[in-house]
Amino acid sequence: MPIYEYRCHGCHRRVSILVRSPSESSITCPSCGSLELNRLFSAFSIRKSDQAVYEGILSDSHLVRGLESDDPRALAEWNKRMSRGEKVGPEYEEVLDNLEAGQWPDVHKLQADYFKEAGEVSEKSAEEPAEEG
Ligand SMILES: [Zn+2]
Repeated sequence: MPIYEYRCHGCHRRVSILVRSPSESSITCPSCGSLELNRLFSAFSIRKSDQAVYEGILSDSHLVRGLESDDPRALAEWNKRMSRGEKVGPEYEEVLDNLEAGQWPDVHKLQADYFKEAGEVSEKSAEEPAEEG
């Protein structure tokens, strides 16, 4: 079963939700219960409002050169600009700290954390009470 990412209008969080079928309509935010969820197709998809930020980054030749040469600090700066001060999770802050220090984060650890999180989501939906009435 696929896990999709949504942006919740209720609490403005990005949430990962296990969806049994793409046409499922009873998707609620696991954080606040809101039904107003926008499906995110990719973590790196560029919204229209991000276009200006993105162009600003591309016009920064120093930053672009850093990205092209896989400079972790350039990636940290890129992240900072793209998130525009939006709150990131504590585990993500750790990654940014690493990048700013010029170190690549442990990708395997990141993947393990991601799947751990996904596992928690599926556990939560499995715990939903089945009985009715
Ligand atoms: Zn919510």
